[in-house]
Amino acid sequence: MDCGACVTICPWKVITIEEDWTVSLDNSKCPPGCSICVHCCPVRALAAEEEEL
Ligand code: SF4
Repeated sequence: MDCGACVTICPWKVITIEEDWTVSLDNSKCPPGCSICVHCCPVRALAAEEEEL
């Protein structure tokens, strides 16, 4: 819904909105266990991947 909540809340600036309003995310930059953006999304558009052990 283009609210930008995940972009605003990410402390590491991993999520960006491009000029065409697509969302870019390089999850290799996410620290282990972080899922702040997942919990802030009002429409649950994001999900965290399980880490392989
Ligand atoms: S999981 Fe954490 S570091 Fe990764 S995009 Fe979401 S808020 Fe940012």
